[in-house]
Amino acid sequence: MVTQSGSSASFASSKRVLVTGGAGFIGSHLARRLFEQGHDVLVVDNFYSSTRRNLYDLINEPRFELMRHDVTFPLYVEVDEIYHLACPASPVFYQRDPVQTTKTCVHGSINMLGLAKRTGARILLASTSEVYGDPATHPQEESYWGNVNPIGIRSCYDEGKRCAETLFFDYYRQHALPIKVARIFNTYGPSMLPDDGRVVSNFIVQALRGEPLTVFGDGSQTRSFCYVDDLVTGLIALMGTSDDVTGPINLGNPGEFTMVELATKVLDLVGSDNELKYLPLPDDDPVRRRPDITRARELLNWAPTISLDEGLAPTVAYFRELVG
Ligand code: NAD
Ligand code: UDP
Repeated sequence: MVTQSGSSASFASSKRVLVTGGAGFIGSHLARRLFEQGHDVLVVDNFYSSTRRNLYDLINEPRFELMRHDVTFPLYVEVDEIYHLACPASPVFYQRDPVQTTKTCVHGSINMLGLAKRTGARILLASTSEVYGDPATHPQEESYWGNVNPIGIRSCYDEGKRCAETLFFDYYRQHALPIKVARIFNTYGPSMLPDDGRVVSNFIVQALRGEPLTVFGDGSQTRSFCYVDDLVTGLIALMGTSDDVTGPINLGNPGEFTMVELATKVLDLVGSDNELKYLPLPDDDPVRRRPDITRARELLNWAPTISLDEGLAPTVAYFRELVG
Protein backbone atom coordinates (compact mmCIF):
# COMPACT_ATOMS: atom_id res chain seq x y z
CA MET A 1 0.00 0.00 0.00
CA VAL A 2 1.29 3.47 -0.79
CA THR A 3 1.37 5.72 2.26
CA GLN A 4 2.39 9.32 2.89
CA SER A 5 4.92 8.15 5.48
CA GLY A 6 6.46 10.94 7.51
CA SER A 7 3.52 13.28 7.00
CA SER A 8 2.51 13.44 10.67
CA ALA A 9 2.48 17.04 11.83
CA SER A 10 5.06 18.31 14.31
CA PHE A 11 4.13 21.98 14.45
CA ALA A 12 6.39 22.63 17.48
CA SER A 13 9.50 22.82 15.29
CA SER A 14 7.92 24.82 12.46
CA LYS A 15 10.43 26.43 10.07
CA ARG A 16 10.36 28.74 7.06
CA VAL A 17 11.26 26.43 4.20
CA LEU A 18 12.05 27.41 0.61
CA VAL A 19 11.56 24.82 -2.14
CA THR A 20 13.03 25.97 -5.46
CA GLY A 21 11.42 24.15 -8.38
CA GLY A 22 8.56 23.42 -5.98
CA ALA A 23 5.88 23.45 -8.68
CA GLY A 24 7.58 20.54 -10.43
CA PHE A 25 7.01 16.84 -10.03
CA ILE A 26 9.17 16.07 -6.96
CA GLY A 27 9.05 19.64 -5.63
CA SER A 28 5.26 19.71 -5.35
CA HIS A 29 5.22 16.43 -3.38
CA LEU A 30 8.00 17.76 -1.14
CA ALA A 31 6.29 21.12 -0.59
CA ARG A 32 3.04 19.36 0.36
CA ARG A 33 4.77 17.03 2.83
CA LEU A 34 6.63 19.97 4.45
CA PHE A 35 3.37 21.92 4.67
CA GLU A 36 1.67 18.92 6.29
CA GLN A 37 4.48 18.80 8.83
CA GLY A 38 3.55 22.32 9.92
CA HIS A 39 6.21 24.41 8.19
CA ASP A 40 5.77 27.72 6.38
CA VAL A 41 6.52 26.80 2.78
CA LEU A 42 7.69 29.18 0.05
CA VAL A 43 7.87 27.77 -3.47
CA VAL A 44 9.76 29.61 -6.19
CA ASP A 45 9.48 28.38 -9.75
CA ASN A 46 9.59 29.81 -13.28
CA PHE A 47 7.21 27.06 -14.54
CA TYR A 48 9.66 26.03 -17.27
CA SER A 49 8.74 22.35 -16.89
CA SER A 50 5.74 22.43 -14.59
CA THR A 51 2.32 23.77 -13.93
CA ARG A 52 0.59 25.53 -11.05
CA ARG A 53 -1.95 22.70 -11.12
CA ASN A 54 0.47 20.60 -9.03
CA LEU A 55 -0.08 23.01 -6.12
CA TYR A 56 -3.78 23.90 -6.46
CA ASP A 57 -4.65 22.44 -3.05
CA LEU A 58 -2.05 24.62 -1.30
CA ILE A 59 -2.36 27.94 -3.11
CA ASN A 60 -4.90 29.52 -0.73
CA GLU A 61 -3.28 28.27 2.47
CA PRO A 62 -1.91 31.04 4.75
CA ARG A 63 1.29 29.09 5.50
CA PHE A 64 2.00 28.57 1.79
CA GLU A 65 3.33 31.00 -0.83
CA LEU A 66 4.03 30.51 -4.52
CA MET A 67 6.38 32.98 -6.24
CA ARG A 68 7.22 33.10 -9.96
CA HIS A 69 10.97 33.53 -10.05
CA ASP A 70 13.89 32.30 -12.14
CA VAL A 71 16.72 31.13 -9.85
CA THR A 72 19.34 32.37 -12.31
CA PHE A 73 18.50 35.77 -10.79
CA PRO A 74 19.21 36.62 -7.13
CA LEU A 75 16.46 36.06 -4.59
CA TYR A 76 16.01 38.00 -1.35
CA VAL A 77 13.82 36.18 1.18
CA GLU A 78 14.23 35.09 4.80
CA VAL A 79 14.24 31.31 5.32
CA ASP A 80 15.63 28.62 7.64
CA GLU A 81 16.00 25.80 5.11
CA ILE A 82 16.36 25.61 1.33
CA TYR A 83 15.60 22.57 -0.80
CA HIS A 84 17.18 23.49 -4.13
CA LEU A 85 15.38 21.49 -6.84
CA ALA A 86 14.93 24.09 -9.60
CA CYS A 87 16.16 22.50 -12.84
CA PRO A 88 14.38 20.63 -15.63
CA ALA A 89 15.00 16.91 -15.08
CA SER A 90 13.62 15.20 -18.17
CA PRO A 91 16.04 14.88 -21.13
CA VAL A 92 13.36 16.36 -23.42
CA PHE A 93 13.10 19.50 -21.28
CA TYR A 94 16.75 19.94 -20.30
CA GLN A 95 17.92 19.48 -23.91
CA ARG A 96 15.38 21.97 -25.30
CA ASP A 97 17.44 24.95 -24.07
CA PRO A 98 20.76 23.46 -22.97
CA VAL A 99 22.46 26.78 -22.30
CA GLN A 100 19.65 27.74 -19.93
CA THR A 101 19.97 24.31 -18.25
CA THR A 102 23.63 24.92 -17.44
CA LYS A 103 22.81 28.45 -16.29
CA THR A 104 20.08 27.12 -14.03
CA CYS A 105 22.44 24.55 -12.51
CA VAL A 106 25.37 26.91 -12.05
CA HIS A 107 23.99 30.46 -11.62
CA GLY A 108 20.93 29.07 -9.84
CA SER A 109 23.12 27.24 -7.32
CA ILE A 110 25.37 30.28 -6.78
CA ASN A 111 22.30 32.43 -6.08
CA MET A 112 20.73 29.93 -3.69
CA LEU A 113 24.06 29.33 -1.92
CA GLY A 114 24.42 33.12 -1.57
CA LEU A 115 20.94 33.24 -0.07
CA ALA A 116 21.85 30.43 2.36
CA LYS A 117 25.05 32.25 3.34
CA ARG A 118 23.22 35.52 4.07
CA THR A 119 20.38 33.89 6.03
CA GLY A 120 22.37 31.08 7.66
CA ALA A 121 19.92 28.57 6.17
CA ARG A 122 20.68 24.90 5.64
CA ILE A 123 20.66 24.08 1.95
CA LEU A 124 20.07 20.79 0.17
CA LEU A 125 20.91 20.18 -3.49
CA ALA A 126 18.79 17.82 -5.59
CA SER A 127 21.69 16.34 -7.52
CA THR A 128 21.38 13.29 -9.70
CA SER A 129 22.67 9.85 -10.59
CA GLU A 130 23.58 11.51 -13.91
CA VAL A 131 26.79 12.71 -12.23
CA TYR A 132 27.93 9.08 -12.68
CA GLY A 133 27.30 9.36 -16.46
CA ASP A 134 27.42 5.98 -18.20
CA PRO A 135 28.86 4.24 -15.15
CA ALA A 136 31.79 1.85 -15.35
CA THR A 137 31.00 0.45 -11.88
CA HIS A 138 27.80 -1.24 -10.82
CA PRO A 139 25.91 -0.58 -8.60
CA GLN A 140 26.97 3.03 -8.20
CA GLU A 141 28.52 4.09 -4.87
CA GLU A 142 29.00 7.72 -3.90
CA SER A 143 32.80 7.28 -4.05
CA TYR A 144 32.62 6.65 -7.82
CA TRP A 145 33.71 9.77 -9.78
CA GLY A 146 31.70 8.99 -12.88
CA ASN A 147 32.09 8.57 -16.60
CA VAL A 148 30.56 11.70 -18.15
CA ASN A 149 30.87 13.01 -21.69
CA PRO A 150 31.62 16.75 -21.25
CA ILE A 151 30.49 17.75 -24.78
CA GLY A 152 27.44 15.59 -25.49
CA ILE A 153 23.72 16.29 -25.54
CA ARG A 154 23.30 15.28 -21.89
CA SER A 155 26.29 17.34 -20.72
CA CYS A 156 24.33 20.52 -19.97
CA TYR A 157 22.54 18.59 -17.25
CA ASP A 158 25.24 16.14 -16.14
CA GLU A 159 28.08 18.66 -16.03
CA GLY A 160 25.71 21.36 -14.75
CA LYS A 161 24.84 19.19 -11.75
CA ARG A 162 28.48 18.19 -11.25
CA CYS A 163 29.41 21.89 -11.13
CA ALA A 164 26.51 22.53 -8.73
CA GLU A 165 27.95 19.84 -6.43
CA THR A 166 31.38 21.51 -6.68
CA LEU A 167 29.85 24.84 -5.68
CA PHE A 168 28.05 23.28 -2.73
CA PHE A 169 31.25 21.71 -1.42
CA ASP A 170 33.27 24.90 -1.98
CA TYR A 171 30.70 26.92 -0.02
CA TYR A 172 30.95 24.25 2.71
CA ARG A 173 34.76 24.45 2.83
CA GLN A 174 35.11 28.19 2.23
CA HIS A 175 32.12 29.51 4.21
CA ALA A 176 31.27 26.61 6.56
CA LEU A 177 27.77 26.50 5.08
CA PRO A 178 25.60 23.59 6.28
CA ILE A 179 25.09 21.75 2.97
CA LYS A 180 23.41 18.47 2.00
CA VAL A 181 23.83 16.84 -1.42
CA ALA A 182 21.36 14.14 -2.50
CA ARG A 183 22.08 12.12 -5.65
CA ILE A 184 18.59 11.20 -6.79
CA PHE A 185 18.02 8.16 -9.03
CA ASN A 186 15.06 7.89 -11.43
CA THR A 187 11.92 8.88 -9.55
CA TYR A 188 8.32 8.59 -10.74
CA GLY A 189 4.75 9.04 -9.53
CA PRO A 190 1.63 11.20 -9.86
CA SER A 191 2.08 14.86 -10.93
CA MET A 192 4.54 14.07 -13.72
CA LEU A 193 3.57 15.91 -16.91
CA PRO A 194 2.04 13.69 -19.62
CA ASP A 195 4.45 15.17 -22.20
CA ASP A 196 7.40 15.08 -19.82
CA GLY A 197 9.26 12.61 -22.05
CA ARG A 198 10.59 10.38 -19.27
CA VAL A 199 10.14 6.69 -19.71
CA VAL A 200 7.55 5.97 -17.01
CA SER A 201 5.20 8.76 -18.07
CA ASN A 202 5.74 8.04 -21.78
CA PHE A 203 4.93 4.33 -21.45
CA ILE A 204 1.85 4.89 -19.28
CA VAL A 205 0.43 7.64 -21.49
CA GLN A 206 1.10 5.60 -24.65
CA ALA A 207 -0.51 2.49 -23.13
CA LEU A 208 -3.60 4.48 -22.08
CA ARG A 209 -3.93 6.09 -25.51
CA GLY A 210 -3.63 2.79 -27.34
CA GLU A 211 -0.35 3.85 -28.97
CA PRO A 212 2.78 1.72 -29.39
CA LEU A 213 5.24 2.02 -26.49
CA THR A 214 8.43 3.75 -27.70
CA VAL A 215 11.39 1.66 -26.53
CA PHE A 216 14.74 3.32 -27.24
CA GLY A 217 17.54 0.98 -28.37
CA ASP A 218 16.85 -2.70 -27.77
CA GLY A 219 15.31 -1.92 -24.38
CA SER A 220 17.95 -3.87 -22.45
CA GLN A 221 19.30 -0.75 -20.70
CA THR A 222 18.37 -0.65 -17.02
CA ARG A 223 17.13 1.92 -14.54
CA SER A 224 16.11 1.78 -10.89
CA PHE A 225 12.79 3.46 -10.20
CA CYS A 226 11.93 5.11 -6.87
CA TYR A 227 8.38 6.08 -5.97
CA VAL A 228 8.14 9.79 -5.16
CA ASP A 229 6.81 9.32 -1.58
CA ASP A 230 9.90 7.31 -0.65
CA LEU A 231 12.17 9.90 -2.21
CA VAL A 232 10.53 12.78 -0.32
CA THR A 233 10.99 10.88 2.96
CA GLY A 234 14.68 10.50 2.11
CA LEU A 235 15.16 14.18 1.24
CA ILE A 236 13.58 15.32 4.51
CA ALA A 237 15.63 12.79 6.48
CA LEU A 238 18.80 14.11 4.86
CA MET A 239 17.91 17.71 5.68
CA GLY A 240 17.38 16.64 9.30
CA THR A 241 20.89 15.22 9.78
CA SER A 242 23.60 16.96 11.80
CA ASP A 243 25.90 19.51 10.11
CA ASP A 244 28.71 17.00 9.65
CA VAL A 245 26.54 14.96 7.23
CA THR A 246 27.02 16.68 3.88
CA GLY A 247 26.59 13.80 1.48
CA PRO A 248 26.70 13.14 -1.34
CA ILE A 249 24.15 10.46 -0.56
CA ASN A 250 22.41 8.27 -3.14
CA LEU A 251 18.61 8.23 -2.85
CA GLY A 252 16.89 5.67 -5.03
CA ASN A 253 15.29 2.26 -5.14
CA PRO A 254 17.85 -0.51 -5.80
CA GLY A 255 15.33 -2.60 -7.77
CA GLU A 256 16.72 -2.72 -11.33
CA PHE A 257 14.62 -3.21 -14.49
CA THR A 258 15.22 -3.20 -18.23
CA MET A 259 13.04 -0.88 -20.28
CA VAL A 260 11.36 -3.89 -21.87
CA GLU A 261 10.51 -5.20 -18.38
CA LEU A 262 9.07 -1.80 -17.50
CA ALA A 263 7.01 -1.73 -20.70
CA THR A 264 5.59 -5.18 -19.91
CA LYS A 265 4.63 -4.15 -16.38
CA VAL A 266 2.89 -1.01 -17.66
CA LEU A 267 0.95 -2.95 -20.31
CA ASP A 268 -0.17 -5.50 -17.67
CA LEU A 269 -1.32 -2.77 -15.30
CA VAL A 270 -3.16 -0.75 -17.94
CA GLY A 271 -4.62 -3.94 -19.34
CA SER A 272 -3.61 -3.32 -22.93
CA ASP A 273 -1.60 -5.29 -25.48
CA ASN A 274 -0.10 -2.41 -27.49
CA GLU A 275 3.00 -3.30 -29.44
CA LEU A 276 6.49 -2.05 -28.63
CA LYS A 277 8.02 0.31 -31.18
CA TYR A 278 11.84 0.22 -31.16
CA LEU A 279 13.53 3.59 -31.85
CA PRO A 280 17.23 4.54 -31.93
CA LEU A 281 18.97 4.87 -28.58
CA PRO A 282 19.75 8.55 -27.87
CA ASP A 283 23.44 9.54 -27.60
CA ASP A 284 25.16 8.82 -24.27
CA ASP A 285 22.13 7.02 -22.84
CA PRO A 286 23.52 5.15 -19.77
CA VAL A 287 23.46 1.37 -20.16
CA ARG A 288 23.01 0.36 -16.51
CA ARG A 289 22.02 2.24 -13.40
CA ARG A 290 21.38 1.08 -9.85
CA PRO A 291 22.09 2.90 -6.59
CA ASP A 292 24.14 1.49 -3.75
CA ILE A 293 22.16 2.92 -0.83
CA THR A 294 24.36 1.66 2.03
CA ARG A 295 25.21 5.22 3.02
CA ALA A 296 21.53 6.27 3.13
CA ARG A 297 20.66 3.22 5.21
CA GLU A 298 23.44 3.95 7.70
CA LEU A 299 23.25 7.74 7.96
CA LEU A 300 19.53 8.35 7.40
CA ASN A 301 18.10 5.01 8.45
CA TRP A 302 16.31 5.27 5.10
CA ALA A 303 15.39 2.75 2.45
CA PRO A 304 12.53 2.72 -0.05
CA THR A 305 9.39 0.87 1.05
CA ILE A 306 7.35 0.98 -2.18
CA SER A 307 8.02 -1.55 -4.94
CA LEU A 308 7.73 -0.69 -8.63
CA ASP A 309 4.43 -2.61 -8.89
CA GLU A 310 3.02 -0.79 -5.85
CA GLY A 311 4.11 2.62 -7.12
CA LEU A 312 3.00 2.15 -10.72
CA ALA A 313 -0.62 1.54 -9.66
CA PRO A 314 -1.33 5.08 -8.32
CA THR A 315 0.77 6.54 -11.15
CA VAL A 316 -1.38 4.79 -13.76
CA ALA A 317 -4.53 5.93 -11.88
CA TYR A 318 -3.29 9.54 -11.98
CA PHE A 319 -2.59 9.43 -15.73
CA ARG A 320 -5.88 7.62 -16.43
CA GLU A 321 -7.72 10.58 -14.91
CA LEU A 322 -5.55 13.07 -16.81
CA VAL A 323 -5.48 11.58 -20.31
CA GLY A 324 -8.40 9.17 -20.28
P1 NAD B 1 10.61 18.86 -12.90
O1 NAD B 1 11.07 19.32 -14.23
O2 NAD B 1 9.23 18.33 -12.76
O3 NAD B 1 10.79 20.02 -11.82
C1 NAD B 1 11.78 21.00 -11.91
C2 NAD B 1 11.15 22.35 -11.55
O4 NAD B 1 12.15 23.36 -11.64
C3 NAD B 1 10.03 22.73 -12.50
O5 NAD B 1 8.92 23.16 -11.76
C4 NAD B 1 10.64 23.87 -13.32
O6 NAD B 1 9.68 24.76 -13.81
C5 NAD B 1 11.58 24.47 -12.30
N1 NAD B 1 12.67 25.26 -12.90
C6 NAD B 1 13.46 24.90 -13.94
N2 NAD B 1 14.34 25.87 -14.19
C7 NAD B 1 14.10 26.87 -13.28
C8 NAD B 1 14.66 28.15 -13.04
N3 NAD B 1 15.69 28.61 -13.77
N4 NAD B 1 14.15 28.90 -12.03
C9 NAD B 1 13.11 28.45 -11.29
N5 NAD B 1 12.53 27.25 -11.48
C10 NAD B 1 13.03 26.46 -12.47
O7 NAD B 1 11.67 17.77 -12.42
P2 NAD B 1 11.67 16.82 -11.13
O8 NAD B 1 11.65 15.44 -11.62
O9 NAD B 1 10.67 17.28 -10.16
O10 NAD B 1 13.12 17.11 -10.58
C11 NAD B 1 13.34 17.99 -9.49
C12 NAD B 1 14.82 18.03 -9.16
O11 NAD B 1 15.27 16.71 -8.84
C13 NAD B 1 15.69 18.51 -10.31
O12 NAD B 1 16.72 19.33 -9.79
C14 NAD B 1 16.28 17.25 -10.88
O13 NAD B 1 17.53 17.47 -11.46
C15 NAD B 1 16.38 16.37 -9.65
N6 NAD B 1 16.32 14.95 -10.03
C16 NAD B 1 15.16 14.36 -10.43
C17 NAD B 1 15.15 13.03 -10.82
C18 NAD B 1 13.89 12.33 -11.26
O14 NAD B 1 13.97 11.16 -11.65
N7 NAD B 1 12.74 12.92 -11.19
C19 NAD B 1 16.34 12.29 -10.81
C20 NAD B 1 17.51 12.93 -10.42
C21 NAD B 1 17.50 14.26 -10.01
N1 UDP C 1 13.29 5.57 -22.83
C1 UDP C 1 12.59 4.73 -23.68
N2 UDP C 1 11.43 5.21 -24.22
C2 UDP C 1 10.94 6.44 -23.96
C3 UDP C 1 11.68 7.29 -23.09
C4 UDP C 1 12.85 6.83 -22.55
O1 UDP C 1 12.97 3.59 -23.93
O2 UDP C 1 9.88 6.79 -24.50
C5 UDP C 1 14.53 5.05 -22.23
C6 UDP C 1 15.73 6.00 -22.31
O3 UDP C 1 16.43 5.78 -23.52
C7 UDP C 1 16.53 5.57 -21.09
C8 UDP C 1 15.45 5.12 -20.09
O4 UDP C 1 14.28 4.92 -20.85
O5 UDP C 1 17.35 4.47 -21.41
C9 UDP C 1 15.16 6.17 -19.03
O6 UDP C 1 14.90 7.38 -19.68
P1 UDP C 1 14.43 8.68 -18.88
O7 UDP C 1 14.40 9.79 -19.86
O8 UDP C 1 13.19 8.36 -18.14
O9 UDP C 1 15.55 8.90 -17.77
P2 UDP C 1 17.14 8.98 -17.85
O10 UDP C 1 17.65 8.50 -19.16
O11 UDP C 1 17.44 10.42 -17.60
O12 UDP C 1 17.56 8.08 -16.76
